[in-house]
Amino acid sequence: MEQKFFIYNTLSRRKEIFKPLHAPNVGMYVCGPTVYGDPHLGHARPAITFDLLFRYLKHLGYKVRYVRNITDVGHLEHDADEGDDKIEKKARLEQLEPMEIAQHYTNRYHQAMDALNVLPPSIEPHATGHIIEQEELVKEILNNGYAYESNGSIYFDIEKYNKDHKYGILSGRNLDDVINNSRELDGVGEKRNQVDFALWKKAQPEHIMRWPSPWGDGFPGWHCECTAMGRKYLGEHFDIHGGGMDLVFPHHECEIAQAVASQGDQMVHYWMHNNMITINGQKMGKSLGNFITLEQFFTGNHESLEKAFSPMTIRFFILSAHYRGTVDFSNEALIASEKGLNKLMNGIADLSRVQAGNESDASTKAFVAGFRQQCYDAMNDDLQTPVVISHLFEACHLINILLDHKAQISGKDLTELADTMNLFAFELLGLKNEHASNNDVREAAFGKVVDMVLELRKKAKDNKDWSTSDQIRDALAAAGFEIKDTKDGVTWKL
Ligand code: ZN
Repeated sequence: MEQKFFIYNTLSRRKEIFKPLHAPNVGMYVCGPTVYGDPHLGHARPAITFDLLFRYLKHLGYKVRYVRNITDVGHLEHDADEGDDKIEKKARLEQLEPMEIAQHYTNRYHQAMDALNVLPPSIEPHATGHIIEQEELVKEILNNGYAYESNGSIYFDIEKYNKDHKYGILSGRNLDDVINNSRELDGVGEKRNQVDFALWKKAQPEHIMRWPSPWGDGFPGWHCECTAMGRKYLGEHFDIHGGGMDLVFPHHECEIAQAVASQGDQMVHYWMHNNMITINGQKMGKSLGNFITLEQFFTGNHESLEKAFSPMTIRFFILSAHYRGTVDFSNEALIASEKGLNKLMNGIADLSRVQAGNESDASTKAFVAGFRQQCYDAMNDDLQTPVVISHLFEACHLINILLDHKAQISGKDLTELADTMNLFAFELLGLKNEHASNNDVREAAFGKVVDMVLELRKKAKDNKDWSTSDQIRDALAAAGFEIKDTKDGVTWKL
């Protein structure tokens, strides 16, 4: 059945029906990590949110090109234009090449994403691999008169831009508010206006990460990379741009300004943002002592954690809230989430024990008939995962009733129930049954095969077919099995 998929557009501030610009192709860009530290919860939420969207769009039949970048240059300490480059600072502290830092934390990020069952994007471009494209963008903006050079750096001229277009349409700020709320206390410096942002920064002599440009050696401003790489891989107009809500201002606001100032119009059709994560009601921050990396969650190795929480517990917990709502992490909430996930996984595993009858009773029939579309309806309503999960729990409840023989289900309905649960829990929510590892599955299958071979040997013996029985025993012995005939039956070990 064709689904009408509604998503909330941060720009229009309402839910809109999703209509791709070039169906069946969909272009989707999500701001990825700045790779200068171990991945933490703040990385997990956007990755999981847009993984869910990626999975769902593909399921709906779209060909999705999902671009998620790696920021390995230009992200300065104070999101404005001042301070050290975050990667270069870390490199200096650890006496490493900045690219060693970037590579190390990119690897760490990938490991954590694998553990969380986040699918890799279609393209993962690095900012340092696209300096030329960023310089081109800066040249276009300069040529169009929306930027100026000052002391070897290039700044975006927000006041000029605001005269011709409107600055602040995504965040809903007007320019006067931005100027009044600007936290830069140390004056304007080389900028014409304190709200202007850097497109290109001149590299000081001690700065390691530097590239030649028409304006001298320097490095791109942080906002340039996403505009340049989004356009390179997804075209001048593409469907979805996503990221965490903290990126709305200034990062995405500046991206819109850069696009309009360079190509004359906006690139992005739908802006989507996930809400933030708090820990015990507080914003996560290094200074607050509540900064917990994903690995610390997975191992339990942090003083404020009562125990380890598996990657799927974290994923399930994040999906238990709508992506635009806040999520507050606490030991109690995670323990509850772990219980919920176990309940769901056990329910799905229990499906194999349900005996199908000839017909479903009326209430089972009614539930199964509506189950799939109810899950779709929730997904179509701007990815309402908590509602999907509540429907999956209703299905678990039905499975318990069926196992207690207090309800009846037909073979056809049982298949539909199982298919729907597998689709939404595993394929779309991207959960995994962590207790059923591949090894467990393989071992169980292996044991069943050996039992079956021994059963064949017993049948041969019962038929006094000694040659077959000996042949099986010899073959098993040659393969390293020790077979013992006891009075209670046959035992084996490897
Ligand atoms: Zn970005």
